[in-house]
Amino acid sequence: MSGMHLCIIYTGGTIGMGKTPAGFAPMPKLGDKLREALAGEVGLPTFELVEYARLIDSSNATPADWQMIARDIAARRAEYDGFVVLHGTDTMAYTASALSFMLAGIAVPVVITGSQIPFGEPESDATGNVRDALRFAAIPELCGVGLAFAGKLYRGNRARKVDSRAMAAFDSPELPPLAHIDVAGDVVVAIGEERLADAEAFELADYEAGRVLSFRFAPGMPLAALDALLALKPHALLLEAYGLGNAPDAMVGLEALLTQASAAGVVIAVLTQTDRGGVGLGEYAAGSWLLRAGAVPAGDLTFEAAFTKLHHLFAQGLAPQAVKAAFGRSLAGEMTV
Ligand code: ASP
Repeated sequence: MSGMHLCIIYTGGTIGMGKTPAGFAPMPKLGDKLREALAGEVGLPTFELVEYARLIDSSNATPADWQMIARDIAARRAEYDGFVVLHGTDTMAYTASALSFMLAGIAVPVVITGSQIPFGEPESDATGNVRDALRFAAIPELCGVGLAFAGKLYRGNRARKVDSRAMAAFDSPELPPLAHIDVAGDVVVAIGEERLADAEAFELADYEAGRVLSFRFAPGMPLAALDALLALKPHALLLEAYGLGNAPDAMVGLEALLTQASAAGVVIAVLTQTDRGGVGLGEYAAGSWLLRAGAVPAGDLTFEAAFTKLHHLFAQGLAPQAVKAAFGRSLAGEMTV
């Protein structure tokens, strides 16, 4: 035994799913099956399992679900040496990012994981992923929110689901994994989590769903599509631009529309559609106009981290200018500054 005592929170996802006439759906009572499957493992921490009453396919997750998980961890923080969250893979990167902001500065590991194949099915990766997550979560140096999958631990707010079928479903394109499991089953730590906050100061204010919207440019997209989004009066708009953050400066009315929205208090953040490299507004004329229009660059943030970060900043009651300033700073290791 490692001497560590962890809490596993089971929220749903493929990991605990069973067959139903409509296809795989979440099933209760995963705890007993997991204990049985892990019984022969040496050196694992002990754990208690909390199973949510409403188990979900994570494609149904909303900001309220991120907050429920963060609040449950905060409420139990003093009782455990670490946490493992069992979650669907589809929106796991959003939940991991949101948890990293709400629990910034947490002094113990919080490791989110799931599986591509349900527990108990042939070739399932469920037991292996849970075992690895327990190992990572028992290492105090790996404090903070991580995402464990297929033998690797990624920083939660840097990770993305990159494959819908392969066992190695996740990657963190802008940051190497924090740790991995070697052939002997031992944890190899590459980089310890940076403790960015000295104290555990959890920020658990209410997120408002539906107030952060996104628009992905594609050649020939009509201005009316963007106009319709802005008519919903979002707090923030994530623009998924091309390459270094370029968007069609030749499109009639686009700059005026964004300038007007920004002046009215909508925080417009510019991301890239590429997986790596981030945005560098100002390198092309087709990008620098976005700065003129009042937009802010998202650096190398993932879409998931940018989306949840904006939710988080608005939940703090900040004015748009303050949100823009904070958006460019790293709050929980989510971006390279
Ligand atoms: N649809 C599932 C979910 O996200 C996929 C998975 O868990 O792998 O809940």
